Amino acid sequence: MMYEILKKYPLCDRCFGRLFAKLLHATNIERGRALKIYKLLEIEKKINKGEADENDYELLKAILRSGCNKTRLNMEIKKESCPWCRGIFEKDKIERLLNKAINLLKEYDFNTFLIGTHLPEDIKELEEEIKTEYMESIKQEFGREFGKLLAIRLNKQPDKENPDIVVHINPYTEEIYLQVNPLFIKGRYRKLVRGISQTIWLCGKCKGKGCEICNYTGKKYPSSVEEIIAKPIMEATKGKDEKFHGAGREDVDVRMLGDGRPFIIEIKEPKIRNIDLKKIEEEINKDGRVEVLNLSFAKRKDVIAYKNTPHKKTYRALVECSEKVSEEDLKKLERELENRIIKQRTPKRVLHRRADLERIRKVYKVKTNKVDDNHFEMIIYCDGGLYIKELISGDDGRTKPSVSSILNKPCICKELDVLKVHDNETGDINGRNE
Ligand SMILES: [Zn+2]
Ligand SMILES: [Zn+2]
Repeated sequence: MMYEILKKYPLCDRCFGRLFAKLLHATNIERGRALKIYKLLEIEKKINKGEADENDYELLKAILRSGCNKTRLNMEIKKESCPWCRGIFEKDKIERLLNKAINLLKEYDFNTFLIGTHLPEDIKELEEEIKTEYMESIKQEFGREFGKLLAIRLNKQPDKENPDIVVHINPYTEEIYLQVNPLFIKGRYRKLVRGISQTIWLCGKCKGKGCEICNYTGKKYPSSVEEIIAKPIMEATKGKDEKFHGAGREDVDVRMLGDGRPFIIEIKEPKIRNIDLKKIEEEINKDGRVEVLNLSFAKRKDVIAYKNTPHKKTYRALVECSEKVSEEDLKKLERELENRIIKQRTPKRVLHRRADLERIRKVYKVKTNKVDDNHFEMIIYCDGGLYIKELISGDDGRTKPSVSSILNKPCICKELDVLKVHDNETGDINGRNE
């Protein structure tokens, strides 16, 4: 029965062999030719003994028509072209496609690649019709074989998991295009000044077009951590665009100190990948407002890990109280806030862009330090996502408890710094990870 298909389609040795690709350690050509020759041998024997029937003759013709002319019988059957591969493995065709791919890739500096093979609809339909449980798609074979040849020509490795560039190719129509995957760079940033946002913040009036309010910059704040970090990286990689992923974010008026906040920057369609990160680091750090440390290359999956990992934080807040604050008050504050569950409804100041929900977060430890009668400093070790300004003010009862409610004196946050974004779930108030 497995030979019956040859009566309908004159599959070449390679394509016939591919129907049983998951059987035997042999190339598709070897397997296909061996199977055809074995059948020819059987039929030839039968014919010599005079035992052949009509079906044997039909199959004999079909095998000869498919290009396997090995019989000693005197038969003149013209070879027909294979409807499955249609010559896509022919040497000069492969050569043409290789040159085309190499020409497109010339513009890019990269390390790994992958071949993505695309088939015309009628070939897909044919595969669907003739498929056996041992078959592999012609897509696999073409991709593998073309990939091997391209790897040798380029002296670069194919990579199924994280290819820098995917060469999409339809060998039937000879269409080729490149998919240049992003380059990911991770590190930690410190924001040493207040007044810059983490990512580019467009002007609310003109939405980036430029107007009188934003002084025709299109932006609400003159600069951002994103822009300062991205600039030298975009110059070095000649990327098309970039995207900044931070492990959380601080407000515009909050500094990010200590050993910084983890981030990943994604460079879209980079022309150059092999860049000197030490040099980039120095370049960024010249800015003075933002510093980066530990730059290294990352993978796409790291972005998801960054976004889903809850990071505990240590903050420093300068608190202003409209009434006098005693040492006793501060002791009470440290006591009452230790391991305390805080319930927060979405702060009034962000209600315009976020849903009104209740958040539950925990404060683990607080240390205080009196500055003068109306000011004190707080070091707060707490869950990520806790709104610190509201933890202090109480936000008109929307955050409970709060520094204001515990002291029964109205307090506000005058200055806020992030001292530490903790990498894991442990860590003491001094920001040391245990
Ligand atoms: Zn074929
Ligand atoms: Zn504007």
